[in-house]
Amino acid sequence: MTRRAVMVGNVQIGGGTPIVVQSMTSTDTRDVAATVSQIERLQCAGCEIVRVAVPDREAAKDLRNIKEQIAIPLVADIHFDHRLALAAIEAGVDKLRLNPGTITDKEKITEVVRAAKGAEIPIRVGANSGSLAKKFRDAHGHPSAEGMVQSALAEIRLLEEMDFTDIVVSLKGTDVLMTIAAYRQLASEANYPLHIGITEAGTPWEGAIRSAVGLGILLEEELGDTLRVSLTGDPVEEVRVAYEILRSLRLCQRGITYRVCPTCGRTRIDLATIAQRVQEGLADVEEPLTVALMGCVVNGIGEAGEADVGFVGGDGNGTIYVAGEPVHHDVPEGELASRIVQTVQDVLKKAS
Ligand code: SF4
Repeated sequence: MTRRAVMVGNVQIGGGTPIVVQSMTSTDTRDVAATVSQIERLQCAGCEIVRVAVPDREAAKDLRNIKEQIAIPLVADIHFDHRLALAAIEAGVDKLRLNPGTITDKEKITEVVRAAKGAEIPIRVGANSGSLAKKFRDAHGHPSAEGMVQSALAEIRLLEEMDFTDIVVSLKGTDVLMTIAAYRQLASEANYPLHIGITEAGTPWEGAIRSAVGLGILLEEELGDTLRVSLTGDPVEEVRVAYEILRSLRLCQRGITYRVCPTCGRTRIDLATIAQRVQEGLADVEEPLTVALMGCVVNGIGEAGEADVGFVGGDGNGTIYVAGEPVHHDVPEGELASRIVQTVQDVLKKAS
């Protein structure tokens, strides 16, 4: 089922368009320079929509200034105080993330919805397992998939009663299986675009794995129109992980897909260091390309032959391939990373 389309600034979510990658800043929103700088880094990494926390009036006031300095749509994340939502709309944000679980007064929600309608911006509603209202928790007081769905549907109905349908829905839980179950159920009951994510997934290592498992299953079932990978730390990592998930499912064409061998007793070069340097050197590449970094000839010839650029390690050196043909022979180990980066850049230049 194709879900509805919603426009966030000039970016469409839903309606059959490719999955949109989002992130959220970790700076103090009131520090405009730091926030804008982080948003620019996120945009460079491929972030298409960015959300900022709006914890107080000062942050709300700074939104206009931030908005004027960035090139991707800006979402205001609002909790508890509906006046902050009104101020954010006034400041010109492209979307609101509103949690009716933390703003419960119907009159206040009505005021915000009316203003969003006037400004023609969408609202994301939906449950987060950490802030699920008591009445939607299970008999033991814990969040459940059923409760999250009922909460989201109640919020959707509230907005629909106000004749507002410019809605994106999320059902983020910390439990991967519960989150998947919730999205499956919601998708059968509403056709608003789905913002998917595993909330509070953790530090980059564990959070990336938990997000890949949860989002991978949802995306394979076509349950997701936009996603955020929630990781503790630099949000640029969220965007990198998001694209790796999408690339793994062949849902996006952006950036380099790496094939790197795990190394074994046959390896005679420091492949881990070479791979790390190559990835750092090519971190800004947006063009779709396959790069194979292989420790020896056993699987190396085949993988390097299939990749756009490949490398096969020897004893303290390696051979670089382009489109299956060896182009640089016996490159010393210390030069390999920079020569591979240069070769990829040459290939990109030739193709442009
Ligand atoms: S490609 Fe060679 S070095 Fe890499 S894991 Fe396979 S056998 Fe080992």
